[in-house]
Amino acid sequence: MPRAANPKLRSVLARLRMSVSGRVEEGADLRCLSRWRIGGCASGLVEPATAAETRLVLAALAEASLPVLVVGDGSNLLFDDAGFDGVIVRIGPALSGFRREGRCVWAEAGIWVPRFVRELGRHGLSGLEHAIGIPGTLGGLIYMNGGSQRKGIGTNIVSVRGCDLRGNPFERSQAQCAFHYRGSSLQTDGLIVLEADLSFTKADPGAIRRDMIATLSERRRKFPKNLPNCGSVFLSDPAMYSIVGPPGAAIERAGLKGTRLGGAEISPIHANFIVNLGQATSNDVLGLVHLARTRVHDETGFWMDCEVRHVAPDGSIRPAHEAAAEAITTEAHAIELET
Ligand SMILES: Cc1cc2nc3c(=O)[nH]c(=O)nc-3n(C[C@H](O)[C@H](O)[C@H](O)COP(=O)(O)OP(=O)(O)OC[C@H]3O[C@@H](n4cnc5c(N)ncnc54)[C@H](O)[C@@H]3O)c2cc1C
Repeated sequence: MPRAANPKLRSVLARLRMSVSGRVEEGADLRCLSRWRIGGCASGLVEPATAAETRLVLAALAEASLPVLVVGDGSNLLFDDAGFDGVIVRIGPALSGFRREGRCVWAEAGIWVPRFVRELGRHGLSGLEHAIGIPGTLGGLIYMNGGSQRKGIGTNIVSVRGCDLRGNPFERSQAQCAFHYRGSSLQTDGLIVLEADLSFTKADPGAIRRDMIATLSERRRKFPKNLPNCGSVFLSDPAMYSIVGPPGAAIERAGLKGTRLGGAEISPIHANFIVNLGQATSNDVLGLVHLARTRVHDETGFWMDCEVRHVAPDGSIRPAHEAAAEAITTEAHAIELET
């Protein structure tokens, strides 16, 4: 259902249509912008086609005091069923530039990670093979310091360039980005990644390819692939890992694999994934997050925190377990256990 028209928003979008070559739309179905396929409507959607357009769009939206959320592929986002009362700025395929010079690479934030990693492999550049199966944009990966096999892309970053939410440019070195497990200063300072310089080691393209194929087949074997999901829901905490193992194992031992709430399910394939069976709502997912977190805490004494982020209707964004704690009205959902 489209959100009610907002005259201020309408006039800003009309102005942006004249200066932006990418998509500018009033109203957007958030289900199409999240890999969970969950969420209501946003008031507007802009897909800038260049870095300069992105800065211009953010400056115009800030000037009009309109709430903004910058997204990539939506592979780590849970939009609320009540939607988002603001404008989504999507850094997508139009910003997919890639250039290589020796062991150094420049790339734009919208490039799709599996494509980026394959491109590196073709050039015999090694270091990011672990990220081959991560279905997001480079900007989202850098912002989240994402990766797998306990690695993160921060290791390969030389510098990051972009802008703040008012469109003012910045440049940060790897040290200034302060990368840590699934986090960076880009998150704490609310900065938008538009491009990055990265560096890799030289290796045999055949060996890189074999490594990527092994990583992909391991992921295909372990992770659900046919139902919409946002990857691992909970972060792996090293202290918990050393005593009780990763979140998926802890949730499974708590007997929650296959637990359903409304249209959402703790995947019977991997318990750290929550899948959308077709009609899941954001509250269904938050209910399962809350259930898994409290049950694992009761059994192990560890609180698991979420990697997945919830977007509230006012645009505030935070780890989903924080939103779950507030959203839970236990009577609101009947939990149907499936074994
Ligand atoms: C099947 C599946 C498997 C996954 N496996 C992994 C995995 O192995 N390892 C892992 O780390 N992640 C994994 N993920 C999660 C996700 O793919 C990563 O977090 C990814 O890097 C997010 O990128 P995105 O473009 O989709 O970002 P989005 O989900 O769109 O956004 C995530 C956050 O990044 C911010 N953001 C996005 N783009 C930018 C930008 N250009 N500048 C500043 N902020 C930005 C958003 O505001 C939001 O806060 C998986 C997801 C799925 C669906």
